[in-house]
Amino acid sequence: MSHEYEFLTEANIASYITAHPELQQRIDGADLAEIREIGDGNLNVVFHVRDRAGRSLILKQSLPYVRMTGEGWPMTPDRARREAESLVAHGAILPELVVEVIKYDTERYILALEDLSDHRVWRGALNDGEYHEGVAAQLGRYVAGVAVGTSVLGSERGEVADMAARSQNAELCVITEDLVFTEPVFDIGRNTVLPENEADAAALAADLSFATAMSEAKWRFMTHAESLIHGDLHTGSVMVRGSGQRGDDADSVKVFDSEFAFYGPVAFDLGALFANYAFAAARARALGDEQRAAWALSLIDQTWAGFAEAYLAAAESWHETRLFDAAFARRRVAETLREASLFAAAKMARRIVGAAKVADIQTLEPSLRAPAARAVLTAARALAAGWTEVSSVSDMRTVLDAHLLA
Ligand code: ADP
Ligand code: MG
Repeated sequence: MSHEYEFLTEANIASYITAHPELQQRIDGADLAEIREIGDGNLNVVFHVRDRAGRSLILKQSLPYVRMTGEGWPMTPDRARREAESLVAHGAILPELVVEVIKYDTERYILALEDLSDHRVWRGALNDGEYHEGVAAQLGRYVAGVAVGTSVLGSERGEVADMAARSQNAELCVITEDLVFTEPVFDIGRNTVLPENEADAAALAADLSFATAMSEAKWRFMTHAESLIHGDLHTGSVMVRGSGQRGDDADSVKVFDSEFAFYGPVAFDLGALFANYAFAAARARALGDEQRAAWALSLIDQTWAGFAEAYLAAAESWHETRLFDAAFARRRVAETLREASLFAAAKMARRIVGAAKVADIQTLEPSLRAPAARAVLTAARALAAGWTEVSSVSDMRTVLDAHLLA
């Protein structure tokens, strides 16, 4: 498939804005002060644009290939539409927790977004040792809102079917299926670890119960079309604002970058968050800050409580309360926790042995990185071995604490 469309450049952004009234309303394309390429992502091009009156917006364009690797890895630019539509759907449910979409350009795959430059990416804040309290609970509430609001529990049956059809995202789902579930066990040559961690990666690949767990994880990911999930809800997909001081609540939390969105299992988003809290804990411990490591793992409890409370509250008045009654809601919550442990295990392992790493671990010097990576891997294996037995969040914490706290 060939994709011919004009890419955004510093030279054509002004005329792009003046040609689109929805954009020109928010910023004067004829009087721009600054255009900055700010993309730190692997996939897309992202520009921050500001006019002389100080108004600004973000333009994010998908290229027909993976930006990180270049034209050798083609990828549908239509992923930008998945991002736009999922942000709009999620924003309709939880406007305060989702970045605002100003416009989506279907011809050039350009997403115009509100500028969140007064926020920072949560992963960066975490890696700098900041504490934005309350973010984890808000994200639990976000996952619950999406779980109910985009599913048959909170939307009309026909609408859900239409949304699910529009949200098919096989090309990006396959990336997750390969990188997150299959390749940590069956390396096709893309995995990398430090020499000190080679034995740990080999032990993971030889762990039959881990492989069994990954088969269950992958199957659920591919077949459980519950809700329009975010699909890539790590701490780099969340922006936070606030002092970052211990004890200070964040005053704003915004989810963004949802191009992997599709109808999938709700627990996948929770598991992604849990895994990323585990990386933050492993980093803190490696840097000798046990208190912070415990704080990072407590984010699991906070996200879980935020999710369970909001989900059970929604169950009181969702579409069908005869069969889908309070007992049903409690069963869904219990199953979601088990599956979240399973997905967390997958996400933890893939970021250690797989091709795509996380800065939390990668920016540790090798002498600290190797033991931190080992701790995450053994924690992942322990979670995967016991996920079917998890019946409360403290069961999950017991497993993680044993490997990630002193
Ligand atoms: P990719 O899909 O390529 O990973 P992202 O959506 O993650 O792109 O954006 C890359 C980076 O651009 C983010 O990590 C963040 O620093 C910045 N960014 C993205 N959206 C916004 C926004 N609305 N406001 C401010 N900065 C943003
Ligand atoms: Mg990104």
